[in-house]
Amino acid sequence: MHIEAKELTKIYGGGENRVTALDRASLTIAPGDFISIMGPSGSGKSTLLHLLSGLDRPTAGQLTYDGRDIYSLSDRELSAFRRRRIGFIFQQFRLLPVLTARENIIMPLLLDKKQPDEGYLQELSRMLGIHDRLTHLPHELSGGQQQRVAIARALIARPDSIFADEPTGNLDSRSGGEVMELLKTVGRELGKALVVITHDSRIAQMADRQFMIVDGVLSEVTAK
Ligand code: ADP
Ligand code: MG
Repeated sequence: MHIEAKELTKIYGGGENRVTALDRASLTIAPGDFISIMGPSGSGKSTLLHLLSGLDRPTAGQLTYDGRDIYSLSDRELSAFRRRRIGFIFQQFRLLPVLTARENIIMPLLLDKKQPDEGYLQELSRMLGIHDRLTHLPHELSGGQQQRVAIARALIARPDSIFADEPTGNLDSRSGGEVMELLKTVGRELGKALVVITHDSRIAQMADRQFMIVDGVLSEVTAK
């Protein structure tokens, strides 16, 4: 899927409280691209990710997926689109505590009234090293294992693109590094576009294309 963002702008509040969280950000994402976006706290990283993935709508600007303007979709159409085409990974893992790893992983399919493909679930679990943890509850898993379950959940519906907002932010540097290596490998093997937000330069450097965002202004730092 080819994603093209043109001059995305997000302004929160008005009057004295007006904040330009994102200022005319443009970027194209080709199928299979691995992109990192780095910037200090409050620079607009999450705002950008929410706009690129259709979780929020911009104040101005355009976003197309394979030429289709996705903000022209209704909220309902947009959420169905996200469920089928986009995988999300969050800093806080966001696993449901009363469900097993396996149940958490297949949740996006259940929400879409689809049956899980057992073979694919096993393949993902094996790639992510959690195949012997599927019947465990989240609190029985380490942080790194919980995030690997969340990665499997992001991939189970076979989306084209994965968006991760500080996926290692709650992990120590060793398990964070392992999780990123796995995410990169799995993304590459399955041919997914991967957009990772981080404030860790070591993680940003793992990407093929690196962007910086400062005060809502996005720029590419990799040489073209
Ligand atoms: P980052 O993810 O880089 O830490 P954010 O995208 O969350 O930054 O926020 C960018 C700016 O927009 C910050 O100044 C933040 O306070 C502001 N902001 C974010 N969300 C809202 C909101 N819902 N209402 C008002 N201001 C917001
Ligand atoms: Mg953020």
